[in-house]
Amino acid sequence: QAPFDHQAIRDQFPALKQTIGDHHLCYLDTAATSQKPQAVIDAMNEYYQLNNANVHRAAHQLSTRATQQYEAVRQQVAHFINASKSQEIIFTHGTTESINMVAYGLTPQFTPNDIILIDTAAHHANIVPWQELAKRSGATIKPIPLTADAQLDIKAYEQLLQAKPKLVALCHVSNALGTVNPINDLIAMAKNAGALTLVDGAQAVAHLDVDVQNTDCDFYVFSGHKMYGPTGVGILYGRFEQLNTLTPMLTGGEMIKTVSFDRTEYGELPNRLEAGTPAIAEVIGLGAAISFLHGLPREHIHAHEQKLMQYLQAQLLNLGDVSLYGIANDKRQINVGSVAFNLAGEHHQDVGILLDQQAIAVRCGHHCAMPLMNELNLAGCCRASIGIYTNKHDIDQFIQALNTVKELLL
Ligand code: PMP
Repeated sequence: QAPFDHQAIRDQFPALKQTIGDHHLCYLDTAATSQKPQAVIDAMNEYYQLNNANVHRAAHQLSTRATQQYEAVRQQVAHFINASKSQEIIFTHGTTESINMVAYGLTPQFTPNDIILIDTAAHHANIVPWQELAKRSGATIKPIPLTADAQLDIKAYEQLLQAKPKLVALCHVSNALGTVNPINDLIAMAKNAGALTLVDGAQAVAHLDVDVQNTDCDFYVFSGHKMYGPTGVGILYGRFEQLNTLTPMLTGGEMIKTVSFDRTEYGELPNRLEAGTPAIAEVIGLGAAISFLHGLPREHIHAHEQKLMQYLQAQLLNLGDVSLYGIANDKRQINVGSVAFNLAGEHHQDVGILLDQQAIAVRCGHHCAMPLMNELNLAGCCRASIGIYTNKHDIDQFIQALNTVKELLL
């Protein structure tokens, strides 16, 4: 393997080369969406320039090429998360759609006696679809509490499992705090209690190695755009037997075997859950993102990101007048991807605007995790999040800018 040359990786992201005003762009909003490497942009352009055709339909060469490329990405994704077969990979438009498809598709299996457990740190995309399922079926939702240091409360979880919930919905990594759930243990506990399990991996796949067979969850979902791929494409992984029981949320062309006005017979997986023309260029772009990630020395990247996270946390604390959220008391786990903070007594939006004036891109607000913000007693917070391309200079530029904000406001 080639030696680790971080600058060479960063150089592949054209958006990071720009300046805004007098400053270099400092992009610390990867958790919202990552920047894209040139290889992803090129793959999508090539599809439109040379191979543009609909998939699975026509008998002509462009369609054959497009179909081959599209189906090859399904295999790539299966390999990427170690699914046992490619039919277990469904292309969706993103994490949100994937969770909606599961919540909708499971509805006939739920009754008013059923309980759904949801991580308090969940993103709204992993809350609202379950609330809709609860409305349709009469089932009850119970949040899994957090400990005082904002980690999932394992003892409380154990107790909740005694009521034999029908489904447990967890996040792998919290998008607001960067906290990491010990997902394999949590899934094993849920399975012992007889529950179905869904893991929201939107913030995990770009940073951690995911192995769905080892994790043993029923569903694992994520978005392409947070892992250096394009927007508009996401993944629903499901255990084959479980996917096969889902009622399709979308029906129409592509997902059928036969149609008459009397009755329609649905097709086999994966087609039965992919109605209509899919996001072909985006799927091909996602394939290029996975190839890009596969080409990198994974262990160096992990070490680089962990070091940056530690440096970022330490520099924020050094600055003074900064509160960090979601840091485990025993520091057993380094947060992944994101650091949540507030500047003493200042509104997060004011801090965000003043950082933006210095070309620092962070996200400020409730981070689509209002129940978590309530739990932490926060109206909102700022979040700095890193990616594969982030370097120490970004962190230094950010800390310097935050120091300027501090001088202006405090
Ligand atoms: N879950 C988590 C943990 C997320 O971070 C996000 C994106 N912020 C989502 C779900 C929703 O993803 P998307 O908007 O791509 O559907």
